[in-house]
Amino acid sequence: MLRCPNCGYLLVLLPKRNKYKCSRCGGLFPQKEIDNKEFREWDERQRLQDVENIKSEKKPKIKLSEEEKIKRAKESREKNYYKNRDKILVRKKEYRREIKERENVRRKAYRYQEIERTRQLSRIHWLRQRQKALALGWLKNTEEKAYNANIFISPPTSLPYHLLSQFYQN
Ligand SMILES: [Zn+2]
Repeated sequence: MLRCPNCGYLLVLLPKRNKYKCSRCGGLFPQKEIDNKEFREWDERQRLQDVENIKSEKKPKIKLSEEEKIKRAKESREKNYYKNRDKILVRKKEYRREIKERENVRRKAYRYQEIERTRQLSRIHWLRQRQKALALGWLKNTEEKAYNANIFISPPTSLPYHLLSQFYQN
């Protein structure tokens, strides 16, 4: 809203005459002059506003040094700790217990697995020994009973012991 430079009342544009008229004091002002004045004032207000904006943007950014940041974080951690101390201690205890339990289960399983493995290995070892003894016996028989055609029937080595042994009876 444009205002009269003399009395501050609202100005009315008279388009045909390119003038502003004040209806209170009756003052007449060239349109250009008033518009220019208005523009300059508006421009000045904008400029001041921009300065204000820039200032308020800069203000809240208080830069903390790294040391200050660490210190503050530590303080808030400590504050938090004392506030929830009991809860934290219980939680820690619970956590340690869980870890211990999990470790025990794992150890037990490992030990069991090892037992199975050891048993299996000794079974394999024993069977190999048996197979070796049988093979040696078979070779001996071949030597001694070379005229017996049956001895040339060679059993598959994958046969279990109790089936394998029937090839070498007597
Ligand atoms: Zn006036």
